[in-house]
Amino acid sequence: MYAVRRSLLAASFVVLASGVVVLPARGDDAPAPVAKESIAPAASAASAEKISIATPDGKIMACREQSPQPFLVRGNWFPKTNDPEKVKAARKLLDDSIKYRTEKYGYFEGFGSPKLNPHPPRHYAKSTTFMGMTVQVHERIITPLKCVEAALKSGPAGNEYKPRAMGGIRFKNTYRGVEISNHVYGIAIDIEPDRNTCCGCVAPWPDHPLCKANKKTIWERMAMPKSWVDTFERFGFYWLGHDVLQDTMHFEFLGDPDKVLEDVATAP
Ligand SMILES: [Zn+2]
Repeated sequence: MYAVRRSLLAASFVVLASGVVVLPARGDDAPAPVAKESIAPAASAASAEKISIATPDGKIMACREQSPQPFLVRGNWFPKTNDPEKVKAARKLLDDSIKYRTEKYGYFEGFGSPKLNPHPPRHYAKSTTFMGMTVQVHERIITPLKCVEAALKSGPAGNEYKPRAMGGIRFKNTYRGVEISNHVYGIAIDIEPDRNTCCGCVAPWPDHPLCKANKKTIWERMAMPKSWVDTFERFGFYWLGHDVLQDTMHFEFLGDPDKVLEDVATAP
């Protein structure tokens, strides 16, 4: 009952932007990349016009722009250094991120403590739509996704790219070792995994024609335009194309889920 009610609420979001694009609904979920190593990347957020959406209770709210929280960025957990102090500090960030994700998004066996949240992420999984595609994610990232969608549709970016499929929550951890994928928490999505490459991932990715072609920039190894990456980054999503994995299909919500919306009147 609870699940049904929440799904209806989520589905009743109204996107205020014009230029609605209807695409065939087709969710899929490609095998996840497995981490080899990582570096510290930089995040950026472009600014544009203010985006508003209507909440399920009919209130018009502004989408708050925010950056990913650094301690949640995987590139910061594995610094390229042998300095034991730096390695220790980075490992603490990873531990903190697991605590935070458990508390906010659910407890996954083997990572963190169920004392922080007795429910698994699966408990919070909801189906939603994004740019005409259907995807199952943690209910707390539905609103930020709606903000991204509204921003895409409010400008030319919405018509620049028409992905046919995307993936969301997974119920198995696809990373090895100490790390846990944000797909497990339902806060990561993959857009068209067959057309947006992950050249730093394990085989067979490095053998993909676009990875082997020695393209000058990462943008030439993916179908998604930069305008989409810039739009996601305005609303707290981190693009794993910045990571050593070069996982161009992958976005994860690393903003604060309690600060996604703000009153239109108080918005800067
Ligand atoms: Zn992914």
